[in-house]
Amino acid sequence: MFYKDKCTLCGECLMKCPYLAYPEEKAKKEFKKLIDGEPTPVTADCITCAACNMFCPEDANPFDLINDRQEETGTFKMTEEALTFFKMSNRMKSEIIEGEPGKPVMNLCVMGDLHPGIIEGQLFEGLTFLKGGDYFCYFGWIHAGTPSIVKDNAQAFVDNLTKTGAKEIICYHDDCYAMLVNKVKEYGITLPFKPIHIIEYLRDYVKEHQNQIKKLNMKIAYQQPCASRYTFEKDTILDELFELIGTERVSRKYDRVDALCCGNAQAGMVNVSKEVEVEWRMKNIMDAKDAGAEAMVFLCPVCILGLRSRAKAQGLEPYIISNLVRLALGEELTHGGAGKVFE
Ligand code: SF4
Ligand code: SF4
Repeated sequence: MFYKDKCTLCGECLMKCPYLAYPEEKAKKEFKKLIDGEPTPVTADCITCAACNMFCPEDANPFDLINDRQEETGTFKMTEEALTFFKMSNRMKSEIIEGEPGKPVMNLCVMGDLHPGIIEGQLFEGLTFLKGGDYFCYFGWIHAGTPSIVKDNAQAFVDNLTKTGAKEIICYHDDCYAMLVNKVKEYGITLPFKPIHIIEYLRDYVKEHQNQIKKLNMKIAYQQPCASRYTFEKDTILDELFELIGTERVSRKYDRVDALCCGNAQAGMVNVSKEVEVEWRMKNIMDAKDAGAEAMVFLCPVCILGLRSRAKAQGLEPYIISNLVRLALGEELTHGGAGKVFE
């Protein structure tokens, strides 16, 4: 939610935006237009990374205003292919895969089958899994410039999770956690269960199995998903996890507050050319490489899609974060670090 009363019209959101990078006067002017509901190129050109919510010194949530204006004006255009991808998500068959009594419940939503060989190994043994459209949070629709869809489906998402009777639910996908920890509060929805982020689950698992961990001694670059901006407080848990498994998160330009979108949002935008999309992806990967990383670590299964092969081509082994932990546990990764075996 945008907090108009907090906004001082300083323009920092649009100045610090890596994609728009407006000069100060233009940034102030265009943001004022957003507030006043006047036409501005921001609505068509913003790639929905939500970074400006973190850049704002007043916590006014400028992206939430931009996103609302994108929907109101219809100026933010998605490709048909991207829209189909979004629409298919909630139609996926739902199921509950019962695990062992007393073991945690994990919501895989529509992400669990996106890559082979990932939901495997001792980290996932005995868990109960929730899968399919009933457990899809719709948060990704902010990237389609339609935040009303996120709000309209929030209660049903929470109700479906509530029906499982679980007291705690581990969120495999960062979007679900952002929805349950941040967005539902904004919508006035209360939760009868506690959402746990997969990073927290992995950190606690590693702490409890320290004797099995063989430190990786690896320098890694982290690809932070856009949704993490809604729950950035977990970043300290992530750092703790990386340390526990013997990895060093390299200090680089495009991490934490300044992380870049993986490029998938841009790939789905009519306004962004293929050349521009690839240029941003390569800026991200070269930044990781130049910072001395040997591997690129992903939290989001969707981020993997557009960066995995490009990272590998630059000598950065791609891993989804649970597979990095499995590596430290000495497990064999049958489908590579991120769902693909490279020759
Ligand atoms: S959401 Fe991202 S692309 Fe859009 S204005 Fe904010 S920082 Fe820029
Ligand atoms: S939303 Fe925040 S950063 Fe943007 S103009 Fe207002 S106060 Fe400044």
